[in-house]
Amino acid sequence: MSLTAPHTAYLKIADGCNNRCAYCTIPFIRGNYRSKPLKDILQEAKIMIEAGVKEISLIAQDTTSYGIDLYGKPNLLSLLEKLLKLKGLCRLRIMYGYPHRVTRELARLMASTDKIFHYLDIPLQHIADPVLKRMNRHCDGTQIRRTLDMLKTEVPDISLRTNFIVGFPGETQKDFNELKKFVQDYEFDNMGVFEYFREKGTAAYTMEQIPAKIKHSRARELIETQSRVIDKINKRLLNTTLEAIADGTDFGRTYKDAPDIDGKVTFTHPVTVGSVFKARVVAAEGYERELIPL
Ligand code: SF4
Repeated sequence: MSLTAPHTAYLKIADGCNNRCAYCTIPFIRGNYRSKPLKDILQEAKIMIEAGVKEISLIAQDTTSYGIDLYGKPNLLSLLEKLLKLKGLCRLRIMYGYPHRVTRELARLMASTDKIFHYLDIPLQHIADPVLKRMNRHCDGTQIRRTLDMLKTEVPDISLRTNFIVGFPGETQKDFNELKKFVQDYEFDNMGVFEYFREKGTAAYTMEQIPAKIKHSRARELIETQSRVIDKINKRLLNTTLEAIADGTDFGRTYKDAPDIDGKVTFTHPVTVGSVFKARVVAAEGYERELIPL
């Protein structure tokens, strides 16, 4: 159990990864996917709730694979159903889902309860098929778009965070343009942009590399594209009411923002630290917003 602040905590549900993305060393370092036994997770969650934690973020290298080693198939849904029954549970947040394992059943469960924030961190890394294939991502652009469309239909107020890697070996200008267009079209609420980093021992290490100058300029371009998306999102957010959580008496986050990584909000008047409440957006600039607690 790791606490970021008394009212928010990360609960690790598994370690390791079976995905073998071509750029990543984690499977070599952490080994194959190992789910934490269900009873241990429930016990940890209970301790957190008793300690006053209001927001439990479920983490793993790939949360949507939870149970694959225990039950022979992923079973995150069943874990969530059991967590939802815990007395005193306030809010869960699901981090790090793998795109083709995000199911309609998961989306429907999220839509059916306010105890799971309508938020999903779903690292996509790219959208162009040739790049996804070289990355060994096990899903193509069509599957990714289908998953995102399904999520937006089933959970209309879902907030999506993702990551993209630019300058992966062999990424052409056409691949990058497809990524930029995808970012404009799908309007992610939060997004990380990383220049590909060559790691010894990975499959991508021996692939033909892209010059650093191109990697930098593509990263800059994608960040600029995303800031225009955020301007559009901010215009729509003005005067809407969102659920917020107080990290301090005058600052915190909305349900759209995970602790430590996403945007922050300030409140127009003091609130109780750790409280979860509705608030109206009165100003928004970039990833920073001002809210009136209601
Ligand atoms: S990037 Fe994530 S999903 Fe891919 S191998 Fe690394 S830890 Fe696993």
